[in-house]
Amino acid sequence: MSPKHPTHLRAHTYHGLAPGPRLLVTGAVHGNETCGTRAITQLLEEIDGGALAIERGTVTFVPVTNPLAYSLKQRMGERNLNRNMAPSAIPQDFEDRIANVLCPLLDAHDVLLDLHSFHTGGAPFVMIGPQNNHGALEPFSHAAEEMQLALHTGPHRIVEGWLETYARGVKRRTATAEAGGGRAQSLVTDPNYGVGTTEYMRSRGGYGVTLECGQHEDPQAVLVARYAILQTLGLLGLIAQPAAPVPMEREILRLVDVMDREHAGDSFTREWRSFDAVKAGEAIGMRHGGEAVTAPADGFVVFPNPRGEVGQEWFYFAQRRQ
Ligand SMILES: [Zn+2]
Repeated sequence: MSPKHPTHLRAHTYHGLAPGPRLLVTGAVHGNETCGTRAITQLLEEIDGGALAIERGTVTFVPVTNPLAYSLKQRMGERNLNRNMAPSAIPQDFEDRIANVLCPLLDAHDVLLDLHSFHTGGAPFVMIGPQNNHGALEPFSHAAEEMQLALHTGPHRIVEGWLETYARGVKRRTATAEAGGGRAQSLVTDPNYGVGTTEYMRSRGGYGVTLECGQHEDPQAVLVARYAILQTLGLLGLIAQPAAPVPMEREILRLVDVMDREHAGDSFTREWRSFDAVKAGEAIGMRHGGEAVTAPADGFVVFPNPRGEVGQEWFYFAQRRQ
């Protein structure tokens, strides 16, 4: 192990003196997404200085959830921490060792607010899990509470259906993948690889949202993160100040499909940004061989990655929830 590898995970827990729910707030799960880290750091000072009072329940803040990636100022350390989230008896990499500490911490809380930022410009959005269901992939019974949390965090746009869409993509990928390929290949063809912080939280009986606060460098993203934390503390009753009412205008988008980049020569027809609208039949990209990849219906391009690795996600396609 490199001597530069961090050897601990820092967490700050406040127990209100009255009973209440247990909230976990995480920043920098991706090391270059620091708006949550900065908002958490400010709030820790305010709580410690007496400007903000935790009165009920428990809140734990983890300002830097992937300290290796954070020290490297990049998304990942040895791999993406927000995938394949589970304890492992025989950890293979730094992120496995973080997961072995983070998963018990998630288990010890009821609600998760996970603060991220994104590469290209655009408005903040919040990601929720599935509707209530008893299915095998992601059974869930807290959809109403999770939606209330999502609405109170602030963004106008809510995105749902990630794990289901990811799993469908993995199934297709597995069907076309060649045998072999080692650990990297086995990870991207494992449906469990789609499990990040919120999915793990739901699998353990809790609920949570991923808040994408804005562009990585946008100072406004710190304010978005701060507002969301205070709103969550208010909504759950951990502070005396109640949450502000939710905006009337909102847009709920459902991820319905994911396309893999199949060849290094696959290219987009233009520089897509997340949530750019497309019409049914409109060409989104061109395969290496010249075949157009078109929108299956009226909808939106989401998480386009022009430099996506071959055999991994190129873009997602979403539609407005009916
Ligand atoms: Zn992120």
